[in-house]
Amino acid sequence: MPIRRQRGILTATIVCTAVLLPALGILQFRWIGEVGRAARQQIHSDLERSANAFREDFDEELRGALQPPQGGGPPGSGPQSPYISHAYIAARTPVGFALLELDRETHEMRGLDWTPNLDPIRVALEAGAPLPRDPSIAVEQLPGGPPPGGRGMFEPPPPRAGPRPPTRWRIAILDLDAIRQRLIPQLAKRYFGDGSTWAVRVLRTGEVYFQSSTSADFIHPDLELELLADPAGRGPANRADLGVCLLQIRRQGASLDDVVAATQRRDLLISFSGLGLLGVSSAFLILAARRSEKLAQLRMEFVAGISHELRTPIAVLASAADNLADGIVSPDSVPKYGALIRKEARRLSRMVDDVLTWSGLEHRSKPPNPQTLAVADIVAHSLAACRLEIDQAGCAVETTIPTELPAISGDPAWLEQALRNLIGNACKYGAAGKWLGVSAWQDATSVSISVADRGTGIERKDLARIFEPFYRAKSAMDAQKPGSGIGLSVVRRIAEAHGGTVDVSSAPGQGANFILRLPKETKS
Ligand code: ADP
Repeated sequence: MPIRRQRGILTATIVCTAVLLPALGILQFRWIGEVGRAARQQIHSDLERSANAFREDFDEELRGALQPPQGGGPPGSGPQSPYISHAYIAARTPVGFALLELDRETHEMRGLDWTPNLDPIRVALEAGAPLPRDPSIAVEQLPGGPPPGGRGMFEPPPPRAGPRPPTRWRIAILDLDAIRQRLIPQLAKRYFGDGSTWAVRVLRTGEVYFQSSTSADFIHPDLELELLADPAGRGPANRADLGVCLLQIRRQGASLDDVVAATQRRDLLISFSGLGLLGVSSAFLILAARRSEKLAQLRMEFVAGISHELRTPIAVLASAADNLADGIVSPDSVPKYGALIRKEARRLSRMVDDVLTWSGLEHRSKPPNPQTLAVADIVAHSLAACRLEIDQAGCAVETTIPTELPAISGDPAWLEQALRNLIGNACKYGAAGKWLGVSAWQDATSVSISVADRGTGIERKDLARIFEPFYRAKSAMDAQKPGSGIGLSVVRRIAEAHGGTVDVSSAPGQGANFILRLPKETKS
């Protein structure tokens, strides 16, 4: 694919990613917020439904208990009501009020003495005063004459033509323990499960009457509902039966809002991690694409550069060969021609070596022919191979190779090529210093070989990049120094293939010092 088109696609990818990722982020944020709100709404309305069902059943149970049986009679005289402990009728007599109770065996009303807990009711009835309010006792006035059937104490009395003297009262004593210990727990279990998720509390006139779990925090209940509030509009009288009862529901552990918020946070984290991963992988893809684009660009430059570099020695060789073949060269000039051909042939062969080694190193990570080598020998061979360049540069060579240096293991051809490249560069770029230093030393694990010059040096921005394949400093290109930009990348690959490294220290105008570090040979 042409580089321009590749660059267009890359730019489009970057723009799309930069626009799409934040847009996706905003959409996800909103969507998760919506989902969270909908989930909260759903849970809350389920809770409300259960609480309403609880209230209906609760009210129904108590109402059923307090209503007189069809056809009249005191409350609780009908089917057995588990929530009324006693039921009485207070009937006016000429001397006051008599207390009557239904005998369940004979089904007849029998009189009994007023008990101390009911006595305040008697006193109030006889005095025509307001009845004392006892939340466990329901007192209802029955109309005079035969007691009407089917009307519960929660229901307003039917309209009457004129005032009729109240003669009979229905008195029911609620069994508070049965309500607390049986009715409420049963309803709590039926509508809110075993208590592992929801805790239920009932407050009676402000006091805790029932609580399913002591650990639940009811300071901020998730739902609060008044029991016996008579939503059907049957009048507030029923509240007096049990007092004001509040049903409170609270989620065990964290509150419903906290749970929804935590779920939202978790969902946000997961989705943003996903987006982050997507962003990071897109960034990696873009980087990889940029790298490969750069590499393609470098390769193109390399092909152009190498063709140019090859053309020069080939042209020199061809014209020298023509001159020699045509016999236009005087016998005195033949040695000069020979030296020229040798120099250009070497330059050509070094270039071909670099290209071949470089492409060979692409597929091979280990030296092909490892041997035990003496550092002094490799240095001597490399210097000898570069003799011509050293002489042409006019460099004085200073070698410091201690005799006691240990052997190293490596491929002699590769290692010599690496040193030749460093020495060749020192001649090419360091000729101004007229000096070339090659030294070696050892430390605990490795042997280091340094190739130094006192030439132009390397700019800071180039230092980090000169080992990249095809990279050439601008100064080298401006000075029209011949080269392809793969010499140092070959050196680095050879060093790494031997388990070693290559480093450089340099500053502009202060020469350069390349250090090739190779591991000592370990005898196994
Ligand atoms: P080439 O020499 O063919 O350009 P290299 O990979 O050998 O390629 O070197 C890469 C670049 O590093 C060179 O173009 C040059 O800018 C810089 N360089 C290498 N050796 C030296 C040196 N001894 N002194 C200054 N610059 C150097």
